[in-house]
Amino acid sequence: MASINIDDVTKRFGEGTNEVVAVDDISMEIRDGEFVVFVGPSGSGKSTLLRMVAGLERQSEGDIVIGDTIVNELGPRARDIAMVFQNYALYPNMTVRENMSFGLKMSTGLSEEEIAERVESTAEMMGIHSLLDNTPGEMSGGQQQRVALGRAIVRDPNVFLMDEPLSNLDAKLRAEMRTEINRLQNDLGVTTLYVTHDQTEAMTMGDRLVVLDHGELQQIGTPLECFYRPANRFVAGFIGEPSMNFFEGHTEGGTLRLDGFDYDLTERMQSSVEPSTDVALGVRPEDLSLNDQPAGGNEFEAVVDVVEPMGSVSYVYLRPENGAKTDEPFIVETDGQRPISEDERVYVEVPNRDVHLFDGD
Ligand code: ADP
Repeated sequence: MASINIDDVTKRFGEGTNEVVAVDDISMEIRDGEFVVFVGPSGSGKSTLLRMVAGLERQSEGDIVIGDTIVNELGPRARDIAMVFQNYALYPNMTVRENMSFGLKMSTGLSEEEIAERVESTAEMMGIHSLLDNTPGEMSGGQQQRVALGRAIVRDPNVFLMDEPLSNLDAKLRAEMRTEINRLQNDLGVTTLYVTHDQTEAMTMGDRLVVLDHGELQQIGTPLECFYRPANRFVAGFIGEPSMNFFEGHTEGGTLRLDGFDYDLTERMQSSVEPSTDVALGVRPEDLSLNDQPAGGNEFEAVVDVVEPMGSVSYVYLRPENGAKTDEPFIVETDGQRPISEDERVYVEVPNRDVHLFDGD
């Protein structure tokens, strides 16, 4: 097992006007045994960063260190890593047993018997023992992904690298495999880097999240740190489902003059903002409440656009009145019990706490 250090790593593709900076001067330390999830929108540089750790892509600048070794010059085989991809990447003409044995035969000095034993016990652990003599074409997507994971585990590598491994599975299977990968990672204690654009995977799988946007590191932290203490507006809007609502405005003394309503800042918040600056106020859908009548606090009027009942809660999409403006649909999460109908007029109460202030655009 091993720690991983990414030191000032940049990756550029193309040249001149075609140049793309896929990863922009990123540094991080990943502890031995840690499970770290790279999350960000499509094109944010997650796969490129992972592929550089794998040795499938060479960084333009910086160092990658696995354990005590600078691996810049080492190819993927010499790095003692195992990768799991979205498309499984199994050899179609080989049985499961052959798929799982192949890497061991190529890169270890293990005897035939030792290899057979390891394949058997890993297949047992992964619940794929009965499939050992099948070929990938004879299996479901979920079974193939289990085999792909088994093939990574059987190699007993220093590091697991996983690139969107669950994206091709249906929702139920994805949820099952999420739990399974968490359990395996915990039991095996192998340092794991995992790429996803999926909120739920990010929040439920990693010890820490690495949030990326446009090749730049936005925040590293536990899922709860990123959720409750987002480092910037990008992280605030990206982490959490449905997304945080934002109001644009500026500070004026102890008040935020937002488009459409005023928000009285608490003392704690006043101390953190400069007077007369542009700010955005962020509030999560679950921290807002809807009232039939004005409640006398920080609030504004809105009209209900769409109600999405989700069971125990409903997502209420609103059209703010009086020019209160947000870029995205404005969403309030309500207790599913409260009857609410489209075109109803409501008062949206913005709480005194659980709001986030960011620099304005
Ligand atoms: P993500 O995994 O977050 O979707 P990628 O790492 O795949 O993002 O891509 C980051 C950026 O680098 C994107 O702008 C992408 O188009 C670009 N990129 C990735 N691979 C290549 C490549 N081989 N050649 C040129 N540009 C690439």
